[in-house]
Amino acid sequence: MIRDINLDEISDGKLYEAGDMAKLGVDDCKGCHACCCGMGDTITLDPYDVYRLEKGLGKSFEELLSENLELRVADGIILPCLAMKKSENADIGTESEGCTFLDANGRCSIHQHRPGICRLFPLGRIFEDGTHRYFLQVNECRKERNTKIKIKKWIDTANFQKYEDYIDKWHYFLKEFTERAPQMDTAELKALNMKILQAFYIESYDTEADFYGQFESRMENFTG
Ligand code: SF4
Ligand code: SF4
Repeated sequence: MIRDINLDEISDGKLYEAGDMAKLGVDDCKGCHACCCGMGDTITLDPYDVYRLEKGLGKSFEELLSENLELRVADGIILPCLAMKKSENADIGTESEGCTFLDANGRCSIHQHRPGICRLFPLGRIFEDGTHRYFLQVNECRKERNTKIKIKKWIDTANFQKYEDYIDKWHYFLKEFTERAPQMDTAELKALNMKILQAFYIESYDTEADFYGQFESRMENFTG
C-alpha cells in the first residue's frame, strides 16, 4: 500500500538488500507479545499468505474470514487482514486487542504459517523502480536487537527469489488499482474489488501444488 513515511524518523537510515545482514535478532520475546497486539487492521494478507494459511491450517478462506481474518479498505481496495480480538486470557493481559492466533501463553500459534508482514517485523519494504529494498524500523520492538542476521534468512520463506519477484508483482498490481480507484464510481470500484477478492483470495488454492504457478495463471486470467 502507498504510504508517506519519513525513513529518517523510523529507521536506522539504511536501505538493505535481501542478502544484507541487519540487527534483527532478539534473544527471546518471552513475556512480550506487543507486536501482535493493538495492530488494528494493519496486517494485510497477500495471496501467498492466504495460501500458506490454507495449507498449514487446512481451512478455506471463508473459514479463516469467519474466525481469524477480516476485510479492510485501504486506498479504495478491499483486502483481508488479521483480525484482532480482546484476550480471554488474563495472563496475556492485553490492554488492547490481540491477534486471534496468539495462544494462551501469548505466543504465535501459527508461527510456521504466519503472514509475510509478521515474518518481516521489524523490517519494512520500500518499493522503487519496480522492485523493493528493506528498512529496519528502530522504534517498534520492545527489546534490544543486537544480533545480525541475513534478511532472507530472517524472512524464512522457501524459494526466496521467486517470493521476492512475486512480492513486487503483487505490489505493482495493487498500486495500479489504488491509483485508479479515486476516478472510479462506486459500482465500478465495488466490481473491481469483488473481482480481486474472488480471483486471488476466495477461490481456493490447490495447497498440494506450487503457489507461484497458480498465482501466475490467476494473474493472466485477470489481466488477459
Ligand atoms: S500471526 Fe502470529 S506473529 Fe502475526 S500478529 Fe498474529 S500472533 Fe503475531
Ligand atoms: S515487540 Fe519485539 S520483543 Fe516484543 S514480541 Fe515483538 S519482536 Fe518480540
